[in-house]
Amino acid sequence: MAGRNHLCIPGPTNIPDSVQSAMLVPMEDHRSSDFPKLVQPLLEDLKKVFKTTKGQAFIFPATGTAGWEIALSNTLSPGDKVLIFRFGQFSHLWMEMATRLGLSVQCEEVAWGEGIPLGRMETILGADSRHEIKAILATHNETSTGVTSDIGGIRKAMDATGHSALLFVDGVSSIGCIDFRMDDWGVDVAISGSQKGLMLPAGGAMLAFSQKALAARDHSTCPKCFLDIQDHINANKDGYFPYTPSLPILYGLRKSLDLLLEEGLENVFARHYRLAEGVRKAIEAWGLELCAKEPKWHSDTVSAILVPNGFNAQDVITTAYNKYNIALGAGLSQVAGKVFRIGHLGDLNDVSCLAAIAGTEMALLDNSIEIQPGAGVGAAIEYYRNTA
Ligand SMILES: *Cc1c(COP(=O)(O)O)cnc(C)c1O
Repeated sequence: MAGRNHLCIPGPTNIPDSVQSAMLVPMEDHRSSDFPKLVQPLLEDLKKVFKTTKGQAFIFPATGTAGWEIALSNTLSPGDKVLIFRFGQFSHLWMEMATRLGLSVQCEEVAWGEGIPLGRMETILGADSRHEIKAILATHNETSTGVTSDIGGIRKAMDATGHSALLFVDGVSSIGCIDFRMDDWGVDVAISGSQKGLMLPAGGAMLAFSQKALAARDHSTCPKCFLDIQDHINANKDGYFPYTPSLPILYGLRKSLDLLLEEGLENVFARHYRLAEGVRKAIEAWGLELCAKEPKWHSDTVSAILVPNGFNAQDVITTAYNKYNIALGAGLSQVAGKVFRIGHLGDLNDVSCLAAIAGTEMALLDNSIEIQPGAGVGAAIEYYRNTA
């Protein structure tokens, strides 16, 4: 099909041309005396995106999923109790991983479309007077339902109950897009991946560990080898890696961090909010609803949109892809067929979102979902023009 495919899924996201070019590098000796000049500032600048000065950043040649495992296996021991709230496919997969690693998982069910319930969290922590819960696993932005949870609120609940658990946060689809404050919120391990807000291909797991999490490494007995942070600590100290790093990912990350820091993180967050608001105006104008049940859960990086009863969201996605060359995100697991997703994160602007809205609108109409032609585009246009 002529023209470019419009990638409107919540990851992988579009790669800026300057990042794409920065990744086209000849291979080089990763043990050369020059190499630390790339690595050391990269690890320092990565910390800025996590908003940590006290923590330590890591880059693994892996993906976000490995990030979960790096957090768990480097800090915990088999049988340790972890608390997780399950409200979507990503919190579900993280919960499953914790079980498979031999941890004792307290899984609290929350309706898909809601986020972490702070009151319930505080009650559970308050009742755990012997501090048997060793870690809380929180998915900041649940990409499958388009729900953002309040991580600062979790820290408050922990402080209110004087609970000593470690706080691990999956920020794979929030970091670099939605405000994230590792130090302020007392996050112990923050997890990110290369292919969402960092605008790179998949292949990099980026993390930051607090001093408390680093100290936990010394007495954790979960098996770890390739994902052991200690080998990275030893090699990173001099600007190297314990094994061959992915050079394109490192050079691409250099450029994407430059872009984010030049724009300014607060401006990046404001841009994501505004673009997301335009998409939400369109959804409202179509008369459709988000999977996220309340505005406080609305995600600024992805909107999961419910199709009316009797319709299959997969048909909308298939039409959009085959007929209009636009990729929308599928509904996963519990919400398969019920939602389709528009990713609005990374390298995008008003017109990129309008393309997503227009393509979606045509696919909705083709599938006999009753919307007013142009309603969504019109609402978004007005919003973007008036807030430009
Ligand atoms: C994409 C995603 C992951 C998984 O990342 P991979 O790079 O696919 O391993 C984990 N958590 C969230 C919230 C995600 O959006």
